[in-house]
Amino acid sequence: MSLPTVEITRRVEFSAAHRLCSPQLSEAENRRLYGPCYEHHGHNYALEVTVRGPVPTETGMVMDLNRLGMLLDEEVVSVVDHKHLNHDVPFLEGLIPTAEVVAVAFWERLQPRIEEFEGCRLDRIRLFESRENFVDYHGPTDRASRG
Ligand SMILES: [Zn+2]
Repeated sequence: MSLPTVEITRRVEFSAAHRLCSPQLSEAENRRLYGPCYEHHGHNYALEVTVRGPVPTETGMVMDLNRLGMLLDEEVVSVVDHKHLNHDVPFLEGLIPTAEVVAVAFWERLQPRIEEFEGCRLDRIRLFESRENFVDYHGPTDRASRG
């Protein structure tokens, strides 16, 4: 009999500064496009990371959620908390740090670490930039075509 597959989620929070500015646009165009976000400002972010995997009979866990939390602290929170996302974070270098772009960068950083755990794969990155605004990323492959 096949094992049930379950999605587990860990949430972490961090604070960071950024500004939105495209090098491909003029200052006037950037101001028009990004409005107040063209200026330096900060957010209290929340990151929810969902891992999907089988529940082995032996342990009853997809993955230890505390270990997932430690991994998120190590790979993300310790690198971005109280930093300026445009300048201080090597893996965001040269990117426009919108929530969309940051979510994809987090995926690329976390995915190989999650796959070290047998049978587990990264299912979703949900990044809250504020209480009202959040983005979801499910990875580079379209879910429908993945089956
Ligand atoms: Zn912002």
